[in-house]
Amino acid sequence: MKQLSIMVDMDRCIGCKTCVVACRNHHNLVNHRSHMPGEIPFYIKVESQAEGTFPHLKEDFWVSPCKHCKTAPCATACESGAIRKDAQTGIVLIDKDKCTGAKKCIEKCPYNVIQFNAEKNYAHKCNMCYDRVVHGEEPVCVEICLTNALSFGEKEILKMQAQANGKEIIKAMSSQSIIYVKSSS
Ligand code: SF4
Ligand code: SF4
Repeated sequence: MKQLSIMVDMDRCIGCKTCVVACRNHHNLVNHRSHMPGEIPFYIKVESQAEGTFPHLKEDFWVSPCKHCKTAPCATACESGAIRKDAQTGIVLIDKDKCTGAKKCIEKCPYNVIQFNAEKNYAHKCNMCYDRVVHGEEPVCVEICLTNALSFGEKEILKMQAQANGKEIIKAMSSQSIIYVKSSS
């Protein structure tokens, strides 16, 4: 199966969260009248890890969306058939019209990336901007990134690009649709 993927260059990500904001706006996740900070749903989050002590501090940043798992536990858990892995793209999609609001997918996702719309009773999450990518565009997070930390494409091609650019794939962090890389030197 083809697997469209996002590659995160950890040498380039500065943790600015521009991608998080652009993603929220694109997917209409923000209700500017009612949402309080900390309550806004997200499809992508920024994580970080600091090393060392001042003044020799070093901090790595990276983004973490849905991993579009090979055998997606969310899809297996869904009893209403609302979640499927698309054969053409490898993207895991939730059909909100089929969702009954049972939240089984949320319990089973190991990455805690599924959001729930309590008002309209459906689960939702990153769909890798499916409507854009099937028309040859990049996901919004990739397009907006200020530092070109994100690349998008077929997984095997991204891996070849990483190798050609002298980047090491961080296997312990990478998963089905997300590849984390760093300079190997
Ligand atoms: S926009 Fe780019 S640099 Fe900023 S947090 Fe997102 S991936 Fe990192
Ligand atoms: S929602 Fe969670 S379980 Fe489902 S594909 Fe994404 S990361 Fe995997």
